[in-house]
Amino acid sequence: MPVQERHDAPLAPLTTFRLGGPATRLITAVTDAEVIDAVREADESGTPLLIIGGGSNLVISDKGFDGTALRIATTGFDLQGTRLELAAGENWSDAVARTVEAGLAGIECMAGIPGSAGATPIQNVGAYGQDVSATITEVVAYDRRSGETVVIPNADCAFSYRHSRFKEDPTRYVVLRVRFELEDAGGLSAPLKYPETARALGVEAGDRVPAARARETVLKLRAGKGMVLDPEDHDTWSAGSFFTNPVLTAAEHAAFLTRVAERLGPDVAPPAFPAGDGMVKTSAAWLIDRAGFTKGYGAGRARISTKHTLALTNRGEASTEDLLALAREVRDGVHAAFGVTLVNEPVTVGVSL
Ligand SMILES: Cc1cc2nc3c(=O)[nH]c(=O)nc-3n(C[C@H](O)[C@H](O)[C@H](O)COP(=O)(O)OP(=O)(O)OC[C@H]3O[C@@H](n4cnc5c(N)ncnc54)[C@H](O)[C@@H]3O)c2cc1C
Repeated sequence: MPVQERHDAPLAPLTTFRLGGPATRLITAVTDAEVIDAVREADESGTPLLIIGGGSNLVISDKGFDGTALRIATTGFDLQGTRLELAAGENWSDAVARTVEAGLAGIECMAGIPGSAGATPIQNVGAYGQDVSATITEVVAYDRRSGETVVIPNADCAFSYRHSRFKEDPTRYVVLRVRFELEDAGGLSAPLKYPETARALGVEAGDRVPAARARETVLKLRAGKGMVLDPEDHDTWSAGSFFTNPVLTAAEHAAFLTRVAERLGPDVAPPAFPAGDGMVKTSAAWLIDRAGFTKGYGAGRARISTKHTLALTNRGEASTEDLLALAREVRDGVHAAFGVTLVNEPVTVGVSL
């Protein structure tokens, strides 16, 4: 039997937005066996199931969730040499800190990302030049289709930018454990890929620095953008970036540049990063800002963060509908200005943009 079960349980306190109505039933599972039992029970009875980790990437309807919400609170941090296995319920940022303390490299620049270890493969979490697809070796998951626990090697996870097979097929797998291979670089970080981090550390991109310094620097940079959770700071009542960076085909990119030139003049060059196969990634934050939605935008209860253009925030009294109204306004405004359609990064439950 699951250790903790509640009925008509508010979900808002389990999310970083503090938004969403109640779940018919809320189960908190602290072992893999409890997770599997709860999932099996829901599946056998045909009850809709919502998996919740840290709730930092969830937008839940004001009406709540008519089904079983399963909060994964399993624990387990097992480090053997450079091999790390984390239980799905482990706090991700704390786990990063422990690997840095152990002198290992590979995930130090993902310090401060809220949420659970088990959610990291879902959208291939990443920041400051690292993402988990580079260090995950295997994901141990309960396969709801076969009713078995399976070990999925990295190559079968279909990782791409903020995406994976788990996000593609969200009702199939429940992640139980995530395995990583880290690097022992004598206490140094992995080569720094992100120019902003390198600049802040006074080194060149590609250099290594003590992993602890890399972690601290990233945490400082993140805090300055409201990207480290702080219950007192409404700028962090968010899901981090609300929109993913658009990846455009060569033709879409050319059309985009024409719109930019018409609107902002021929000398304005929007950010552009090669994204493979001739695709170009541009910056959602740039698009939002240049479409006129600057930091702090909004007069209502949901507003753009005062510290980061890409974070939509609950100023304390917002509803999910307030948040979605703002998100739609931003998405439609960017489309009208530049012809590019922004896509939301957080997972929506019972609502859509
Ligand atoms: C302030 C802030 C900053 C952020 N910065 C970043 C960032 O820099 N980079 C980044 O990539 N993300 C960032 N995020 C988004 C978020 O932290 C990540 O997506 C994180 O991995 C979500 O973890 P979670 O446990 O909170 O997932 P939840 O929000 O609980 O769930 C997210 C999705 O994953 C599913 N899920 C959760 N656990 C499991 C599991 N064990 N098995 C199967 N499905 C599961 C849920 O059903 C849901 O669909 C940020 C969020 C906030 C609030």
